[in-house]
Amino acid sequence: MIAINRRLCVWILSLSLILTSCAGRKGREEAYSSSFFAMDTYMTFTVYDEDAKKAQSALRQAKEEIGRLEALWSVTDEDSDIYAVNHGGGRPVTVQEETAQIIQFALEMAEKTDGALEPTLYPVLTAWGFTKEENQIPSLEQIDRLLERVGYERVLVAGDQITLEEGMMLDLGAVGKGSAGDRAVQVIEKAGITSALLDIGGNIQAVGGKPDGSDWRLGLRSPFGEGIFGTLQISDRSVVTSGNYERYFIGEDGVRYGHIIDPATGCPVNNGLASVTVIAKEGRLCDALSTSLFVMGLEDAVSYWKEHQEEQIFDVIFVTEDQKVYLTERIKDRFNLQKDCREMKIHVIEAEK
Ligand code: AMP
Ligand code: MG
Repeated sequence: MIAINRRLCVWILSLSLILTSCAGRKGREEAYSSSFFAMDTYMTFTVYDEDAKKAQSALRQAKEEIGRLEALWSVTDEDSDIYAVNHGGGRPVTVQEETAQIIQFALEMAEKTDGALEPTLYPVLTAWGFTKEENQIPSLEQIDRLLERVGYERVLVAGDQITLEEGMMLDLGAVGKGSAGDRAVQVIEKAGITSALLDIGGNIQAVGGKPDGSDWRLGLRSPFGEGIFGTLQISDRSVVTSGNYERYFIGEDGVRYGHIIDPATGCPVNNGLASVTVIAKEGRLCDALSTSLFVMGLEDAVSYWKEHQEEQIFDVIFVTEDQKVYLTERIKDRFNLQKDCREMKIHVIEAEK
């Protein structure tokens, strides 16, 4: 079995940034950065300010906030809220307010996406070895047996008390980083910073625009290899990508198995999509949607966007395995295809009038 490919370590970014030399200047803002490993990925936070002390304090507080949330939401750390819930033996477990909120949000998104997002999929992820990076292909009987322990509808939330049936397990892998990013953004804004860019393992959360007020220009990483396929101009938005190219293994049967699982089958998604990038204000919404739209496949994901885009306000860039780019109309003028990717065809998805 070939080990999981985690190009993250080298690339760090699925959205590489084109910003350092062109951050823009209004006054005497300088860039201050902090890079660290947390929540199983590399993070780089960059804030722009005239006041070095203020900038460094904001960075420190944001990093501490990520550490605090990781300790609460880790599925493996025996002291975490999630671990306590997963080992509650069918009894209610009291969790911190922020844990109850993210669980509630994940369950709501699971319902909205008709179970494409499935926060209780952990037993199945374990069978495929994605939780320990010792991959294997489970038998269909094994998957069926484990799917009996999966079902977001059966999670009970009463205020800050969560109850899981024995054998069920919650995992915030698909929403935790986006939500932690939102909280880091809040910390940075509270510290008085108006221009910052948080890179959370390739997912980007922007505070404001560049120091001169113009948009950030982000490079969108190609799902087909190294380099970027396009750029996106945004301010004050989160940009989150999901794809099976990030983490996968090649089975003994020669098939590529990715880390995003279709809860309907218990098997890795293989529907012709190469990546899904979601753009919205909130990181947690982007994170939940990028994973679940990837599971849905292009057709259902486009229908979901048409149905929900006014209520949830988000945009999407889909890249298909046959190298087509589909993007929602609101962001078409903010996206530019890379020169060396001109063979990729662009389709604009329009809202229903
Ligand atoms: P993301 O990188 O945000 O797309 O999240 C993918 C991670 O979420 C995987 O590595 C798994 O831990 C977990 N996961 C995989 N499939 C699903 C799914 N259908 N619903 C919820 N979480 C999932
Ligand atoms: Mg996600």
